[in-house]
Amino acid sequence: MSLGARKAATSDPLTRAQAIATVADYLDARGVDGAQEDARALLRAAAGLTRLELAMTPRAPLSQEEARALSRYAARRAAREPVSRILGERGFWTLDLAVAPSVLDPRPDTETLVETALRFVAERRDAPLSILDLGAGSGAIACALLSELPAARAVAVDLSQDACAATAANLARCGLSDRAAVVRGRWAEALQARFDLVVSNPPYVRTEDIAGLDPEVRLHDPALALDGGSDGLERYREIIGDLPRLIDEDTVVVFEIGFDQAASVAALMEAEGFKIERVTRDFGGHERVVAARLGPPRP
Ligand code: GLN
Repeated sequence: MSLGARKAATSDPLTRAQAIATVADYLDARGVDGAQEDARALLRAAAGLTRLELAMTPRAPLSQEEARALSRYAARRAAREPVSRILGERGFWTLDLAVAPSVLDPRPDTETLVETALRFVAERRDAPLSILDLGAGSGAIACALLSELPAARAVAVDLSQDACAATAANLARCGLSDRAAVVRGRWAEALQARFDLVVSNPPYVRTEDIAGLDPEVRLHDPALALDGGSDGLERYREIIGDLPRLIDEDTVVVFEIGFDQAASVAALMEAEGFKIERVTRDFGGHERVVAARLGPPRP
């Protein structure tokens, strides 16, 4: 889009508030959900402002340079690139993560997985827990867990070399590299260790459903991170079958699942001897996380 730094009819510079309104209308007209919030985020980035700074100075004029940057960002958002990918970062849990093209954009839904996993280790928060994150991608889950569990260590596995680099970069960005190892591999294939906590947000979208996803997901999240095979459950089968050799009775296994997959994933786990401990809903009310153990339920 072309967003002159000046209003067409006058010679006054466009204010920040006016620029936000203009971009929001432009994005809204192109079918972008949450256009107003996105326009604000893009303006903040273009002008290098915090939320507070913007709130205090809505009538400040936009410089030519800021207007040009905002125009470029707005055009990308209109082409349905998510704000997190345009800016290359996104907030997750309490952290500020980089979002690389090679990984799934970390979602608020996945914070539900982090929350559930932490509940299971609440009494062992300061213990030297060993964590395995399968399909680590951005490293969001591993970073969030390590940030909350000061003595824990994690092994983060991904099949993609670029994703492994993204995981390692976020661990470094969060100052957590010394408690984590990043391993390239197909799930836990290359590992021998035993873990206290296994977490995974594997690809769970049915192959034929990928074409119908929002363009933000379909065009920008890597297919490898989405494709769960013909029934969406293929990756769970691959992972679950290999888990027993890496865990003991007390290990908690926590999966993110698609909104309609709780019963199917639970059945796959039960067939492997797991007892389902908890199914947690996300903020949208969908069943989003399944937690299970091999041992008998705890009192
Ligand atoms: N949550 C993603 C979606 O909305 C899918 C992520 C995954 O497959 N793990 O499509």
